[in-house]
Amino acid sequence: MYDLPVVSLKDSVSEQEWQTRVELAACYRLLVMHGWDDLIHSHISARIPGTDHLLLNAFGLTFDEITASNLVKIDIEGNIVQEDCPFTINPAGFTIHSALHEARHEDQCTLHVHTNETVAVASLEEGLLPLSQYSMFALASLAYHDYEGLAVNDKEKQRLKDDLGNANFFLLKNHGAITLGKTIGDAFMHMYDLTRACEIQLQVQATGQSAFMVDQSIVDGIKAQANIVHSGQTGGQKAWPAMMRKVKRAYPDFDK
Ligand SMILES: [Zn+2]
Ligand SMILES: [Zn+2]
Repeated sequence: MYDLPVVSLKDSVSEQEWQTRVELAACYRLLVMHGWDDLIHSHISARIPGTDHLLLNAFGLTFDEITASNLVKIDIEGNIVQEDCPFTINPAGFTIHSALHEARHEDQCTLHVHTNETVAVASLEEGLLPLSQYSMFALASLAYHDYEGLAVNDKEKQRLKDDLGNANFFLLKNHGAITLGKTIGDAFMHMYDLTRACEIQLQVQATGQSAFMVDQSIVDGIKAQANIVHSGQTGGQKAWPAMMRKVKRAYPDFDK
């Protein structure tokens, strides 16, 4: 009863789907490496480029059990669309992702965590403050969503879309954090930056001493630069292959 079904899809899916599966499995393993997995309650969803299908973790697996082949292919409503799939997904957990993928068709990946640091900052009335260089990336593209309880209904789905707007960083008050990215690597790098920003803010605040806040004019100036630095050629694109190699060394089975 504890054994996982072993599946191998490498030779039965498109090259694009396989590449998305490998990168998404790597991202799940990176969550384990960073302690962002929250038992089994974080989620990362990714669109298979050129299709309306998404990949999501099989519900109940720890993230160090996730492989390219055991990710589950679903449609935007969360229906499983792969044949003979021995796994299920968490439909309640997928609701937020479904709303965000609907709203942001151009973004491949939605990464959602409940780390202490992001929940803590998302629960502060003043939210994320311009304290560290890491906070600059997030503040350049940050939105908030009010807490409405555990279940997400259709009306909240619409409010999620409205609140997100064009932002890539999304703090869910009292709940956690979401980042979006044009690629899986970009979404991961965004979450790395946001997490560092939240950690540093809480450490500064814990000293109880007054701190230098970055001037708003500098925050505004960085909005244009942030997209260049941490996505595209210079940021995510460079760091992501290195992250993939790091995952391969730690978990040689992730791309099976
Ligand atoms: Zn989620
Ligand atoms: Zn959540």
